[in-house]
Amino acid sequence: MSVVVTGSAGFIGRTLVETLAAAGERVIGIDRAPQPPRPGLTVLTADLLSDDDLVRAALEDAAVVYHLAGCPGVRDRGADVARRRRRDNVLAGARVLATVPRSVPVLVASSSSVYGGARGGRPSHETDPLRPVGGYARSKTALERLCAERLARGGRTTVIRPFTVAGEGQRPDMALSLWLAAAREGRPLRVLGSLDRTRDVTDVRQAARAMADLAAAGAQGAVNVGTGRGQSLRAMAAAVAEALDTEVSFTVEPAPAVEPGASLADVRRLRSLIGWSPETDLRGLVRRQAAAAHPLVEAT
Ligand code: NAD
Repeated sequence: MSVVVTGSAGFIGRTLVETLAAAGERVIGIDRAPQPPRPGLTVLTADLLSDDDLVRAALEDAAVVYHLAGCPGVRDRGADVARRRRRDNVLAGARVLATVPRSVPVLVASSSSVYGGARGGRPSHETDPLRPVGGYARSKTALERLCAERLARGGRTTVIRPFTVAGEGQRPDMALSLWLAAAREGRPLRVLGSLDRTRDVTDVRQAARAMADLAAAGAQGAVNVGTGRGQSLRAMAAAVAEALDTEVSFTVEPAPAVEPGASLADVRRLRSLIGWSPETDLRGLVRRQAAAAHPLVEAT
């Protein structure tokens, strides 16, 4: 039997496919974006809402489904972002949850944004009340509600709440990618709010490993995927400067409401489920991300 990864052409999906294939799994990767052939991967290029027979068969026959497809990012980009969030985060998720048989585990990528930030700097715990701010967080909260319904009907369901994920192939709209691009071009780094804001940053390879391990552990319900350590934007900027061996300058703008002052994961549940001990070497992670974005430049 195969495992299915939706969103397999995306940032986290690509690394998850690699992780699963390296562990000997046969992977079917479903994404509407094209993806290159890779060992151990069967590519299915289709929209999850397209009524494609191959998509349905893959979801019905899977051993495990990792549902990562979606419209990511807390900031409102593009005129039709509300429609895309509803379509790709809520409706596509509903389709996946309804198609996969209840006996088959589904691991669904939600987001730490459902917490609305770390209140008073306290780590967010899975049992905290959800306080979504903005359309992205609300769409993920709606997705989580569908997951809770499947779980209540006896469907094996895991809600994964990743905090900020970084590393090779990070989405170009994410802060570190934007900062690396700006620093390379000698432009100032755009800071929303203050350099004292913090983010809980997880290495994409470890986040992918955690998802695979959570499936193996048979985890049910919500699980944070973070490091439990907050990294200040100041530390991230210093890591960018060091990775590119350059000086950086800043422009500071007010932070929109969707950007919390701090994000921090309580990782006790993850630790007890899979024995999680994450790496928190931010400078090494940023160096790797920088080198992967420009391998030829870095090699010379
Ligand atoms: P990404 O945009 O790189 O990947 C998502 C992929 O899903 C894309 O390749 C896209 O083509 C595909 N997709 C979207 N809707 C689809 C549909 N209807 N049918 C088929 N394919 C579809 O995003 P990412 O950063 O890899 O994030 C993966 C998941 O994790 C997302 O659900 C995101 O919301 C969540 N998440 C990411 C982070 C992070 O730091 N990157 C943090 C928290 C949560």
